[in-house]
Amino acid sequence: MSKLLVIGCGGVAQVAITKCCQNSAVFTELCIASRTLSKCDALKSALEGTTQTKITTAQIDAMDVPALTALIKDYNPVAVLNVALPYQDLAIMDACLAAGVHYIDTANYEAEDTQDPTFKAAYDKRCAELGFTALFDYSWQWAYQEKFKEAGLTALLGSGFDPGVTSVFAAYAQKHYFDEIHTIDILDCNGGDHGYPFATNFNPEINLREVSAPGSYWENGKWVETHPMAIHRTYDFDQVGTKDMYLLHHEEIESLAKNIPNVKRIRFFMTFGQSYLTHMQCLENVGLLGTEAIDFEGQSIVPIQFLKALLPDPASLGPRTVGKTNIGCIFTGLKDGKERSIYIYNVCDHQECYREVGSQAISYTTGVPAMIGAMLVSDGRWQDAGVFTTEQFDPDPFMEGLNAWGLPWTVVENPTLVD
Ligand code: NDP
Repeated sequence: MSKLLVIGCGGVAQVAITKCCQNSAVFTELCIASRTLSKCDALKSALEGTTQTKITTAQIDAMDVPALTALIKDYNPVAVLNVALPYQDLAIMDACLAAGVHYIDTANYEAEDTQDPTFKAAYDKRCAELGFTALFDYSWQWAYQEKFKEAGLTALLGSGFDPGVTSVFAAYAQKHYFDEIHTIDILDCNGGDHGYPFATNFNPEINLREVSAPGSYWENGKWVETHPMAIHRTYDFDQVGTKDMYLLHHEEIESLAKNIPNVKRIRFFMTFGQSYLTHMQCLENVGLLGTEAIDFEGQSIVPIQFLKALLPDPASLGPRTVGKTNIGCIFTGLKDGKERSIYIYNVCDHQECYREVGSQAISYTTGVPAMIGAMLVSDGRWQDAGVFTTEQFDPDPFMEGLNAWGLPWTVVENPTLVD
């Protein structure tokens, strides 16, 4: 019996909200609050009549902390689920603290304006100290640790698939399969085909910033950074087949390196086809991935935001995407003094997702764990005072939730390892 305020009404939010409405025993009331009210109202109309959850809507600019605080106080939810954009993370955390409610999100903070002097100074310092140059990292949100602790509130960061489920897989492997985990390889394979020459599966701006950044991995207590897409492997994925994959920097590496004791190496690989890479390289070469505003005929334009306006809306890919995703983690380490390796993964079919919730599998695999995280925080099973990532709580109820809510997982012993 709880009330949830959801911020955002894009591809991921639409799945998370639909799943909350399937789980109306927990989410008795839900408010969809986003920048464009008409999208919230359209989703409310589509869901009403299919759910016991009482849905309301609100227009909000989540960057306006006083207005958001007032909205939260007025609606009085148990928690706020942030499925807007990473740019809004800190503003929404501030509003949750001011209103006294728990906070859940799916992606770590990233500055919209990377030339902002405060951001730039902190970013340059972090690059020098830690040795990776991705524009996103956990330091901004980990800095809220004491504030949430003092307020007796939970902030659950990164409750999507990767990060999110991948970190729960790590906690599950640690709890049930290993005395010591030594290596973690996170493999994110999308075998889906949407038929467009080029499109991204979630917000293009966030996605292209992530995949065009230098790669990095954690080894023997420090970061090793590589040129973008410099490390390439192929892997034969269950139910998808053999794919090319490339090493990327990814946010869960940062938290797993802190929270999985004895881990020696953590890497993240994502599959890309040659056409995607060629398009991205070309867009980068002509400057369309730029995040700094330029002057165009007297108007200020951020190139990557202009590109976003040209690309297909990820929320529109659902009907045309066929194929499957396979996302999971390969762990190696020791159990009872013997070497052990396991692979935990989920396979998700784009068209099955579309039939169930009207979205492709990337939004689905993010929206379902967002709902599960919100459920566990709301019902108290994952409540603690402070700022947490998903590997820091008991993984069992989350793993049960994945099976119950559409993302069943498989454990394979002695899998093929990535060299
Ligand atoms: P979309 O761009 O589809 O949706 C973003 C939504 O946020 C839109 O409804 C947008 O409003 C709203 N929004 C943007 N700015 C504001 C604001 N200032 N105030 C209120 N609402 C705002 O993004 P996705 O659904 O693809 O992604 C959502 C989140 O999920 C992102 O943070 C992304 O990084 C994360 N993600 C996480 C993954 C994981 O596995 N952990 C994987 C994929 C995504 P409007 O409709 O007006 O544009």
